[in-house]
Amino acid sequence: MNLGLKDKVVIVTGGGKGIGGAISLSLAAEGAVVVIFSRSKITSEFKALMDETKAKYAFYQIDLVNTDEIKPLVDEVAAKFGGIYGVVNNAGANDNKDLESTSWQDFEKSLHSNLTHYYETVHASLPYLKAAKGAIINIASKTALTGQGKTSAYAAAKGAALGLTREWAAALAKDEVRVNAIVVAESFTPLYANWIKTFGDEEAQKARLSVITDKIPLGKRMTKPEEIADMSVFLLSPRSSHTTAQWIFVDGGYVHLDRALV
Ligand code: NAP
Repeated sequence: MNLGLKDKVVIVTGGGKGIGGAISLSLAAEGAVVVIFSRSKITSEFKALMDETKAKYAFYQIDLVNTDEIKPLVDEVAAKFGGIYGVVNNAGANDNKDLESTSWQDFEKSLHSNLTHYYETVHASLPYLKAAKGAIINIASKTALTGQGKTSAYAAAKGAALGLTREWAAALAKDEVRVNAIVVAESFTPLYANWIKTFGDEEAQKARLSVITDKIPLGKRMTKPEEIADMSVFLLSPRSSHTTAQWIFVDGGYVHLDRALV
């Protein structure tokens, strides 16, 4: 299937590793012009993978918590590449700010780091997205729908990303800009690898991982970042031209299937 993404300019936040990295690679494989906004430098391994696709891409180092830096960068990208077709809001992290011990100041700080840049990246890109009749993807998390028990701010930010998906889809339908969210449950990424290390030595990590994967109905395994990427790329593409306001669960049935199955 030709997805019709060739030469379309797409910003991917946190697009240099993990889920964002897989999205960047899938987009590049389709010939899109991928523009990565990332806090840390991309690794030589990831650069080599992007180079292999032969697609045009650009990397900008930015800490997205510095909200005022987003619009100038977006404008620079649009000027350099002649517009912006898509935005993938992906950068973020589960920072475990729990209800018992998190001050409202730390709650707000966490919301800022997981949510405000989702808003500002799209807000700044809007004239370009409208001109291109483009598409937006918000990466969300199951925690917004299932809770996790120890992560108030992150769950709130990801719930807001789902709310904004509906709100922006409504606001932008007249402009034919489509907005969809992908809900992720468990996907093994560098972030996940760091989190699992908090459970102890290799043995303890393995034990914890098998408790988690045992609860995933489809295949008793984690979702591969590439599986999330493929869905993202399809939702961005003009081949999904009548799909908007959707929350798509790429989670092996984790959120919706009966617990009795597992
Ligand atoms: P990851 O492996 O840490 O990759 C995220 C990338 O985003 C990293 O390159 C990170 O930079 C970057 N980033 C984070 N905050 C940033 C900021 N303020 N400014 C610029 N770049 C920033 O994480 P991931 O697991 O792929 O997660 C991607 C998205 O999926 C996140 O929104 C996460 O909440 C969501 N998600 C993941 C899972 C999962 O199981 N993995 C589950 C549910 C939802 P650094 O390299 O500097 O850290």
